Amino acid sequence: MDNFMQTTGLRRRILVVDDEEINREILGQILSGSYEVSYAENGKQAYEMLTRRDLQFSLMLLDLLMPEMDGFELLERIQESEELHSVPVIVMTSEKDAEVQSIRLGASDFITKPYDMPEVILARCERIIELYEGNSLIRSAEKDRLTGLYSKEFFFEYIRQIESYNGERDMDAVVLNIEHFHMINEMYGRSVGDDVLKRTGLSLTRLFDPKSCIACRPDADTFYLYGVHREEYEEVFAELQEELAQLSQSPRIRFRIGIYPNVDKEIPAEIWFDHAKMACDRIRGDYTRQLSFYSKELNEHDLFHERLINDIDEAIERRDLIVYFQPKYAIQGVEPRLRSAEALIRWKHPELGMISPGEFIPLFESNGLIQKLDRYVWQEAVAQIRRWKEEFGISVPVSVNVSRVDIYDPKLEENLLELLKKNGISTEDLMLEITESAYSENSEGLIRVVNALRDNGFRIELDDFGSGYSSLNMLTTIPIDVLKMDMLFIRNMHKSVKNQKLVELVIDIARFLGVPVIAEGVEDEAQLITLKDIGCDVIQGYYFSKPVPPEEFGPFIEEELRKREME
Ligand code: C2E
Ligand code: CA
Ligand code: CA
Repeated sequence: MDNFMQTTGLRRRILVVDDEEINREILGQILSGSYEVSYAENGKQAYEMLTRRDLQFSLMLLDLLMPEMDGFELLERIQESEELHSVPVIVMTSEKDAEVQSIRLGASDFITKPYDMPEVILARCERIIELYEGNSLIRSAEKDRLTGLYSKEFFFEYIRQIESYNGERDMDAVVLNIEHFHMINEMYGRSVGDDVLKRTGLSLTRLFDPKSCIACRPDADTFYLYGVHREEYEEVFAELQEELAQLSQSPRIRFRIGIYPNVDKEIPAEIWFDHAKMACDRIRGDYTRQLSFYSKELNEHDLFHERLINDIDEAIERRDLIVYFQPKYAIQGVEPRLRSAEALIRWKHPELGMISPGEFIPLFESNGLIQKLDRYVWQEAVAQIRRWKEEFGISVPVSVNVSRVDIYDPKLEENLLELLKKNGISTEDLMLEITESAYSENSEGLIRVVNALRDNGFRIELDDFGSGYSSLNMLTTIPIDVLKMDMLFIRNMHKSVKNQKLVELVIDIARFLGVPVIAEGVEDEAQLITLKDIGCDVIQGYYFSKPVPPEEFGPFIEEELRKREME
């Protein structure tokens, strides 16, 4: 502690409370060589100063007899208050009797008037401060046996003390984690794991000057650092990485570091490290990055995602997740005819409002929750097909999106078939959209699954075609029933002749494969006319309708029924 205070140029502050100016002056002279000194003329003033958040006192020297509020009353007040209690008090008195009473009221020591030699006073002040701070540290004093770094409790206690003397300084909170540490333990044994931790502790103490930075190991493979703000971390952590790489017979070790620079002193220290940890966690498994900085925006984004993950079950239960339907029209006849619909999820969050699938689908795809959500959508879609059938007497085929996670579920087929059976729906009526990028990832495994689905009668639409990297060669080997051109083609179609040629090329590919083409994202009539001219079969887009809730879809079916009657 002394080291830290010396290097940071900090001095403890003592409050001298005495109504006589001469006394204040004498004490001031004695103390100001070693301490910052504040003064109060009576108990009332002192009380006010003690409650100020910007001043932290290490000690109070208190006269007993004063106007306005005397020393006894102040001591009583301090005893009643939780926060003020933590300042030790030395009472200055010339009366023996007063000592007993003030001890009862919590004073730690006495200085008798007239004053002793200055050295004696100074020594007593020092001793009380040391004792007091020592006690509060000892309560939590414990070092981590393995690394010799502080224990977590001590670390945070230490931070509180540093902060009470040095609230103004810019400080950083750093969390360091050893990637895949459990693997090191499993593959090389615990003693090697322990050794890695020990070496890390040693290196940290060497690389970060203990005079301006403290460290602890809060749990197995995580280290916390709290130190004076620095702009540069790359180098020092590169050095740490280097040092550990040089250990002979040791596994490859990789650190992941999260930094919360210039911590906000208004929030509790534990939260600083939560923030740094959050930054650290967001680069888990990312081998291109070792350092990650906390920022408010990133944090909000993460919290928003966390919220969505937390809320998904309830959203399904409360039916805040609603399946919308967007019609697809066959356009090659005299007039456009309703062909089918795509089921698209919407989230009406009771507090966050409408959330777009673009926000939560990628998130749920990355953590596997998409499976739960897709299953819900399939159920809703199949139930809706049944209801339309009952209401209108015709079946409107619906396509649902199938994510890559679903594809590797060995029960995919079984679940889908059971769902259809329960609702009395055939595989003709439920089409499956699989995005192109899923094909390029694991084509062999995927082809097997898709073949099995097709054998059972499901039709597969290759979604977002042209957005990924599937080679033309691959197209001839993957089994599909419909090709869905990526929306971008349509958006750019009228921007240049080349772009239109590209759309024609996609349609040629579909012809070559012998499957119909769907154009997505068709918004105006000009696009429709061009697409009709160049032979596109089906169109989906705002030109006909945005995705709508099921009750708004009814009129599309009624219109189709009218057209059928006219035939
Ligand atoms: P997608 O499967 O390519 O779906 C088409 C997206 O284009 C939908 O966005 C749709 O609303 C939008 N769209 C349709 N016509 C037009 C148009 O004319 N102009 C424009 N600008 N956009 C149009 P949405 O509903 O926001 O869905 C975005 C993506 O989220 C979907 O892309 C799909 O990948 C995913 N998604 C939506 N619902 C589900 C679901 O239930 N399960 C899974 N796994 N993914 C879903
Ligand atoms: Ca789709
Ligand atoms: Ca699409």
